[in-house]
Amino acid sequence: MNFLRQLYKTFTLAELRRGMLVTGRRLFSRKITLMYPREKTPKSPRFRGLHALRRYANGEERCIACKLCEAVCPALAITIDSEERADGSRRTTRYDIDLFKCVYCGFCEEACPVDAIVMTDIHEFHMEENAQRLIDKRGLLKVGEKYEREIAAARAKDADYR
Ligand code: SF4
Ligand code: SF4
Repeated sequence: MNFLRQLYKTFTLAELRRGMLVTGRRLFSRKITLMYPREKTPKSPRFRGLHALRRYANGEERCIACKLCEAVCPALAITIDSEERADGSRRTTRYDIDLFKCVYCGFCEEACPVDAIVMTDIHEFHMEENAQRLIDKRGLLKVGEKYEREIAAARAKDADYR
């Protein structure tokens, strides 16, 4: 009986027709596939992408070299050196993040008392050489300067939950 049923299915192309029916039903329904990168899904203000170091509106670096981010980083991806300035304030002389070691957990930005190190929503970045996995202080500040408006907007959106 089973054999006959199988034979019937084979000769009538039953499974193929059933498949075509599914395709036909989907043909006119709303498309859920996005044409990336032309179309993109919305991102949460908490999205953890590429890091950035921020400045205050007067241009001063926010980071006070407390090294809390370095201490909390589970991947040991952050390396900081610091020195005291002539005015007695402390600032970093080196701030490196190894983007290969980083697990994008966001602990560094959570630990930072002055909102200096943050994670942007930038996820489309790549490296072509091994040495590029290290992003230094200059690079981090550059990202911060370029995307300050977006960073501030994302943090304002999330402020009620912090
Ligand atoms: S996101 Fe996590 S792993 Fe990456 S640097 Fe920050 S604390 Fe370290
Ligand atoms: S980024 Fe924040 S937590 Fe890290 S050293 Fe600077 S002030 Fe401290």
